[in-house]
Formats: sequence, structure tokens, C-alpha cells
Amino acid sequence: MMNAPAACVGDPVDVIETPALVVDLDLLEANIRRMADFAAARGIRLRPHAKTHKCAAIARMQIAAGAVGICCQKVGEAEALANAGIGDILVTNQVVGERKLDRLAALSKRIRLAVCADDGGNVDRIAAAAARFGTVVEVLVEIDVGTGRCGTPPGAPALALARRIAGHDSLRFGGVQAYHGSAQHIRGHDDRRAAIAAAAEGLRQTLDLLAAEGLDCRIVGGAGTGSHEFETELGLWTELQAGSYVFMDGDYSDNLGPDGQPDRRFANSLTIRSTVISAPVPDRIVTDAGLKAMSTESGPPRVVDAPWARVRGVSDEHTVILTDPARRPGVGAVLSLIPGHCDPTVNLHDWIIGTRGGIVECIWPVDARGAVL
Ligand code: PLP
Ligand code: MN
Repeated sequence: MMNAPAACVGDPVDVIETPALVVDLDLLEANIRRMADFAAARGIRLRPHAKTHKCAAIARMQIAAGAVGICCQKVGEAEALANAGIGDILVTNQVVGERKLDRLAALSKRIRLAVCADDGGNVDRIAAAAARFGTVVEVLVEIDVGTGRCGTPPGAPALALARRIAGHDSLRFGGVQAYHGSAQHIRGHDDRRAAIAAAAEGLRQTLDLLAAEGLDCRIVGGAGTGSHEFETELGLWTELQAGSYVFMDGDYSDNLGPDGQPDRRFANSLTIRSTVISAPVPDRIVTDAGLKAMSTESGPPRVVDAPWARVRGVSDEHTVILTDPARRPGVGAVLSLIPGHCDPTVNLHDWIIGTRGGIVECIWPVDARGAVL
């Protein structure tokens, strides 16, 4: 069951009930435009990851700005966004289990769909599902370029998997995914660049082997918010699949730019509005947004309106903030909190409330909320 939204279109922001997930539309649009312009200026395609927003309205804005389609991490996410009208989706993950593969094959009859694989037996099972549904599913080989999560080793094992895909009538070999997740959060600019340069070695070797056998890659995908400039400059990748840039995690804002300063080119457009419900002693306040309103595994939220304040802890329904007594927000004050990690934070909410100029302008459903299947 979806809960009622915390506001109505046209409301002034100060009547939004809290806790609420709020996006600043000017900042969101600027982020979408910045990444789209970056990709267009360099002739690389952009396929933003929708695991961040899970919201068809935002996916449509990204596509209107030039994105070729979107990425999803789960079949359920892809179904939800396809049902909301998105027509070109790459599932950037392994899909395992007969039911899921049936759903994937069924979906591939309705939209342009591709999926990743890193296992030969799984490739055969995707092929069997596609055959059952009388369709052809496009499959990319995922290679591990340094993260140590999913992905076959680059080079010969990747080539063997590509051959296996190409050998099935019900599959089409679509290319390679080379995503280096852990590199995204390396703070130093040059260290981050070096991690992606190292990742490129395995990718280059793999692409050379594929080319020698005439196995064409429609997509060479990878890159996230923290590294997209580096994949782009290396010239091997053809699609950027960054996602978090639309909202910009508090954690990502600590990555350093080339000048050694925090890189703030993408703005923190997403906040949790939260009300001070207790101010029991001069230096402590407590707000109504806890772990059920935001995730904290990438660090505590930042307090926009009181940057001097320090978050002491976040529990189920509370955030405890230590503050300067002279500047202590009182009970009833509303604070905006920047989540450390936006993807799992959005997944806690049914609605995204879009504001501009102090007014609620739109309320979007989080279409793929909870779509973990
Ligand atoms: N591609 C894959 C496979 C991912 O897992 C992710 C994020 O986890 C992304 C792209 C997007 O990265 P980011 O949200 O850091 O921009
Ligand atoms: Mn994330």
C-alpha cells in the first residue's frame, strides 16, 4: 500500500509534512543538463542508472536531455519503468532463476532490453527462456575490472562467454560491461583516474580479442558519477551509466577534484525534510527522520540549515544532532538533511516531492520502490 504524499501540488514548502523526500527541481535539472552536455560534447552515449531515482518522471527528463535509455539493476525495476513508458533498458546485473528469466524474456518482447551475464550456465538458461518466449534477448558479458563483485575475468574467459552467447539463436551478443564500483569513491582525483586507467587494461585486452573474432559490441558500458570523466577520456567505453549525479550523495560530494578541493559541480538536489521534535538540553536537538527515512551506511546526513551542527547518531525514527546552544533550532523548526547515500534512501519513500521557489511543483511516485525481485 502506498502512503499519502506529504504535500499537495501548490503548497508552500513549509507545510510539507515530515519526514519527506524532497528534490530541488532547479538543482535536479542542472545536474541532468550537466551530465547530458558532458556526454554530448565528447560524443559518448549516456544511459543513466535508474537505481538512484527509480522514478519514470526523472528517467523521462534524462531521455529528453539526450540519454539513449536507462539502466536498471533488477528485473522488477525494469518492469516498473517499462510499465511507465520507458522503452530502452539495460539490466546491469546478473539475473538468475527461471521465474526471473521468464519475466526478462517477456519484457524483451515489449521494450528494447539487454542484460549482463558472467556465467556460461546462466547464459544457456537465458537462451532457454528467450526460446520459450519466442524472442531474442541481448546479452552483454560483464567483466570484473577491479571491484571484485560480479564479472568474469577479462580476456580469454570473457571471449569464451561472448562466443557462448553468440552461439545461441535466441540470444544476441550485445557487448561488454566494465563497471568499476569501488573506484567511484576513491577520494583523490589522480588516484581515481589511475584506478580507471588500470581497469581499462583488462577492457582493452577483451575488446581486442572480441574484435579479432568479429564479435561486435553495440554497448561497451560502465562508469559512475565518481569516474565518468576518466572512462570517457580513455576512449574505450561507448556508454556512461552514471546514476547518482542526479541527486548527488553527501558521500560523493567529498570526492576531490583536480584542484584537491571537494568537487561540487553536481549539486545535492535531494534532501530529507525533517522537523525538530525535541530540544531537551541546550546543545542537543532531535529530528523526526531516522533510519526509516534515510540510509546511513555511507555516513550520517549533513544538516543544510545548520552546517555547524554535528549528527551524533541516527536511530529508527530519530536523528540526534549536537548543536551550538546560541544557534540551536527550536522544537518545530524544519531542517533539510542531505543523505550520505541517495539510492537506498529513495527506496524508503513512496513519493518524491519536487519544489521550486518555495512551492511544491510536482509529486512523483517512486515507481520502482522496493522492486528487489
Ligand atoms: N553501473 C552499475 C553496474 C552500478 O552498480 C552503479 C551503481 O551502483 C552504477 C552504474 C551507477 O553508479 P553511480 O550511482 O555511482 O553513478
Ligand atoms: Mn549508490
